Amino acid sequence: MSELIKDNLARVREQIAHAAERAGRPADDITLIAVSKTFPASIVQHAVDAGACDLGENRVQEAAGKIGEIAGKEICWHLIGHLQSNKAKQAISIFNVIHSIDSSALVERVDRIAGELSRRPRVLIQVDLGHEETKTGADESTLHEIVEALDAARNLDFCGLMTLPPFFDDPERARSYFIKLRSILENLNMNREPERKLTELSMGMSHDFHIAIEEGATMIRVGTAIFGAREKH
Ligand SMILES: *Cc1c(COP(=O)(O)O)cnc(C)c1O
Repeated sequence: MSELIKDNLARVREQIAHAAERAGRPADDITLIAVSKTFPASIVQHAVDAGACDLGENRVQEAAGKIGEIAGKEICWHLIGHLQSNKAKQAISIFNVIHSIDSSALVERVDRIAGELSRRPRVLIQVDLGHEETKTGADESTLHEIVEALDAARNLDFCGLMTLPPFFDDPERARSYFIKLRSILENLNMNREPERKLTELSMGMSHDFHIAIEEGATMIRVGTAIFGAREKH
């Protein structure tokens, strides 16, 4: 198992390098988040031993159980799933980056709790571009209100946008969603001071990260291509 995960990580890194090269971008502009949801700490440890230092989880409770069990150098933990407000306290105490901010009310709550815990998480707004029933994220029409709340927040480091497009068998079909997210980020940046520019685009998963990188992704969230197929979650 440990060899398999090591090989998978090496292959993903190689694909990142190729995609970055095609896009004329430095490969180290792209953070690989190994999405360890559903896999036990003993398996996740293999990825950490093979050099993974950013790990993604989509459930606060599940992550809380694993985080203490994984040993190694500093790991940056990313919350990539929906954040319920009643889990905010636990989430802020364990995650370094929260990709799923989706309302101004959540911003206010997370900011207050981060202050109480003396934490300063990096946060991204999850933008809902696919409008599927089962997916979460902020509607584009509510973005300005959320950005305003984030700009007023004192304990959050607002750094960019995340999206989760609908699943397509043909990953090329995800491209327009990635282009859209980048254009939203560029539009937001037009009105921002140089030192407050947003730099992160969290987009691309196992089957489409190469396309996301071509369209400007700075954080890709890769589970299956590293750990193998998941049981239904
Ligand atoms: C599970 C998950 C991923 C990883 O998906 P893979 O297809 O296994 O790479 C990425 N982003 C989010 C939000 C997820 O929930």
